[in-house]
Amino acid sequence: VSAGSPRPPVPSDGGETTVELLGGLDIETTDDVEIPERLVDQVIGQDDARDVVLKAASQRRHVMMIGSPGTGKSMLAKAMSQLLPREELQDVLVYHNPDDGNEPTIRTVPAGQGRQVVEEHREQAKKRGHLRSMVMWVAVVAVLVYAFLFAGEPLLGILAALVVFYVFRSSAGNQRANVPKLLIDNAHRDTAPFEDATGAHAGALLGDVRHDPYQSGGLATPSHDRVEAGAIHKASGGVLFVDEINTLGVRSQQKLMTAIQEGEFAITGQSEQSSGAMVRTDPVPTDFVMMAAGNVDAMENMHPALRSRIKGYGYEVYMDDTIADTPDVRRKYARFVAQEVARDGRLPPFDAEAVAEVVLEARRRAGRKGHLTLAFRNLGGLVRVAGDVARAEDAPVTTRDHVLRAKRRARSIEQQLADEFIERRRDYDLSLVDGGVVGRVNGLAVMGEDSGVVLPVMAEVTPAQGSGEVIATGMLQEVASEAVQNVSAVVKKHARVDLDEMDVHVQFLGAGEGGVDGDSASVTVAAAVVSALEGIPVDQSVAMTGSLSVRGDVLPVGGVTYKIEAAAKAGLKTVVVPAANERDVLVEAEYRDRIRVVPVSHIGEVLDVALVDDVEKGSLLDRLSTYAVGSGSDRDRN
Ligand code: ADP
Repeated sequence: VSAGSPRPPVPSDGGETTVELLGGLDIETTDDVEIPERLVDQVIGQDDARDVVLKAASQRRHVMMIGSPGTGKSMLAKAMSQLLPREELQDVLVYHNPDDGNEPTIRTVPAGQGRQVVEEHREQAKKRGHLRSMVMWVAVVAVLVYAFLFAGEPLLGILAALVVFYVFRSSAGNQRANVPKLLIDNAHRDTAPFEDATGAHAGALLGDVRHDPYQSGGLATPSHDRVEAGAIHKASGGVLFVDEINTLGVRSQQKLMTAIQEGEFAITGQSEQSSGAMVRTDPVPTDFVMMAAGNVDAMENMHPALRSRIKGYGYEVYMDDTIADTPDVRRKYARFVAQEVARDGRLPPFDAEAVAEVVLEARRRAGRKGHLTLAFRNLGGLVRVAGDVARAEDAPVTTRDHVLRAKRRARSIEQQLADEFIERRRDYDLSLVDGGVVGRVNGLAVMGEDSGVVLPVMAEVTPAQGSGEVIATGMLQEVASEAVQNVSAVVKKHARVDLDEMDVHVQFLGAGEGGVDGDSASVTVAAAVVSALEGIPVDQSVAMTGSLSVRGDVLPVGGVTYKIEAAAKAGLKTVVVPAANERDVLVEAEYRDRIRVVPVSHIGEVLDVALVDDVEKGSLLDRLSTYAVGSGSDRDRN
């Protein structure tokens, strides 16, 4: 294939029928799709993680899930709580300790009985209260009768009666001490508890004792009444889920470890100045299954002892980001849409074409050949926005058109930032989309996860004072050095100037704004350097992305679809992409006619497209092509 011939990207809405996109599923709307009862069966993909959860549930083991957000970690944790037995759950009561008011006692009873116990104590307290007030009134009347009729001292009598009254009343307050507090109530649970302690502060995680401002003096709330259970206690018998586990403070991680080890953890006040800090209960059960989660970086910051605790007594599992695109899997995506519609409860069902469009979006977002994304939270967001668009119109079903409109609306923050970035760039005239310029190339980068931006690169070559250096501005020094090294390996034998004796200056225009990933800029840097070195202008209507090997091969990079769309949006006419990425490309219809995508596999082809035609170019390409052929046959021999 000649590099110059236009090759339309794989169309996103041609080729396959709706039924094919749904993996052969013939449905009218998502109402026709059956949704499994158990949450664990609703999980799509993540086969390893599902197996682990099923196994861990039967063995009551801890699980650590490592992976990207929105791939089903908390869903699996919730699913685990449905799998654990409900029968062993307990209610926990906290009692006033007459020997030491600051050390409340703890008692557990089978789930459902806690309320009864509290009720009984309350009844007794009430009865005792009645008795007391009867005794009190009898005493008051007796005192008055004696004073008026026998002693003839009515004033003294009234005074004495008041004293009796107050003595009884103030001691009545202590009656509350005799009623226990129901700390954990599992009476009406259908499943074992699921507690999400992500980002919880110490009190919410470990329990707390409220401060009592009236601590000294008769108005005090008995200390046991101020005890609050933490997530570790509420989760007992069920699942404690902690996402972003590394953001939990070291102290909290240590205490969590103790709770896991001991299976019980006393509650005390968490803030040191508070009167609650003096109170410490008996140990309260913390017999939970820990489901910790985080991304790969999170693991590095996690308390090593806690991690080894979970690892030693449980499983570690990686969450997948994508799944192979097969008819069987696509059928499950239809179920996913049905699940999300059911979960929301207010969205109109999706018709088959609308579901097919969601499948296409899953394909697009995978950014990987023959795969679908498993980032379901975001995909679920699209489903909800589409459903809302339909609902706003009182449409009985959500159609493909609603999904397309939702896609436009539900753009990520990164995409919105990228748009602004492009706007601002226009203001400063950083963008050039036509004409020829020596040493300047429109590169492409990805911001965040899903937004492309045009990132121009300028290169200049000057004779070095000593040995040649690569000087790059900003954070992309490493990328630049490597790219120049690789390109010098390619052009060395053939260039007129020895790159080793030159200083190469590389500037990434506007990359200082942050958030731009430059990994895939090496082809761009190489093209800019060659242009500067040979003095051949670069066609500014061309953009490119790709990674360069030492042999001059163009290697695949990520985010190609987003980059192509960014180039089209910026008004560029041609995009050069690695041939190996060709099948990843799923450009939306609106851009498809505006831009030509040229897949390449060698730097020679890149330069052929990017450099403005002139005599110099011909001779340069001749030199490079002999190299390319040479390196190709080398490789064959190896
Ligand atoms: P995480 O905890 O990994 O960040 P969640 O489990 O909170 O992600 O996922 C958010 C929502 O996305 C879930 O409530 C569910 O609706 C949907 N979802 C996520 N992963 C899956 C999956 N593997 N299968 C089906 N739905 C999923």
